[in-house]
Amino acid sequence: MKGAYEFSYEDNMMDMFSLKGKTAIVTGANTGLGQGICVAYAKMGANIVAVARRSCDETKALCEDAGAKFLEIRADLSSTEPINMIISEAIKTFGQVDILVNNAGIIKRNDAIDVTEEDWDSVIDVNQKVVFFLSQAFAKACINNKNKGKIINIASMLSYQGGIRVPAYCASKSAIIGLTRALCNEWASKGINVNGIAPGYMATNNTTQIREDQSRNDAILERIPQGRWGTPEDLQGAAVFLASNASDYVNGFTIAVDGGWLAR
Ligand code: NAD
Repeated sequence: MKGAYEFSYEDNMMDMFSLKGKTAIVTGANTGLGQGICVAYAKMGANIVAVARRSCDETKALCEDAGAKFLEIRADLSSTEPINMIISEAIKTFGQVDILVNNAGIIKRNDAIDVTEEDWDSVIDVNQKVVFFLSQAFAKACINNKNKGKIINIASMLSYQGGIRVPAYCASKSAIIGLTRALCNEWASKGINVNGIAPGYMATNNTTQIREDQSRNDAILERIPQGRWGTPEDLQGAAVFLASNASDYVNGFTIAVDGGWLAR
């Protein structure tokens, strides 16, 4: 059915959110938020390309149970070296790439006064440099093949705030919001949406240390309006939305999924 502006409405609203037949590359897919995103995409019909340093057996089983085709790519994303291989293996297996989730990330906690150059570089390389060059390779593949693309960058509350004893992480995640806007400006006209998700405080390996520190844990919970840590499941809705046709006119924006943390 045509609307007043000659666009057509979906007959079934659920189709807007379907990822049937799309191929999604998710980095850091073996655990935590990356695993949750893979499972959500698998349930919505996507082929999964799981990129990780370690075995993705658990993620593979969960995705295959949901009926998805699954390709595991072992890669260390602390350098740009594996990027071309990741894109070419994904295309060789599934024909094209449609979705990229830049989820892999590391955090190093230390007083700013004691941070070494090595620690600084290791965080910036994974969280920022490789995110840019993997996005660039993905965008080239979409443009060459003339297919639409969706890039989703995993940001953080520390894209907006300073945090405590994590200066390189804060710098890298703040950069992610700027990069999301910058890439939108260049690639939106080529059919590529570049958006971000800023998770709040989520119960994963990334936050084990602060959850085990009773006073930090209490202070964090006290400040979250919803009064609980987030889970990988909490991120799935936003991740599906930004990968699907439902978000075709959303571009350059980072959505917080934080139980209200930023509202305080
Ligand atoms: P996690 O530690 O469980 O997952 C991080 C993933 O990144 C793992 O799969 C890990 O293997 C992968 N990774 C790290 N370095 C890598 C490398 N060199 N090569 C390949 N893979 C590498 O933690 P998580 O919470 O699931 O983190 C996922 C993303 O979410 C990260 O970018 C993190 O910064 C971000 N984030 C997490 C929270 C939180 O509260 N947990 C909040 C905001 C943002």
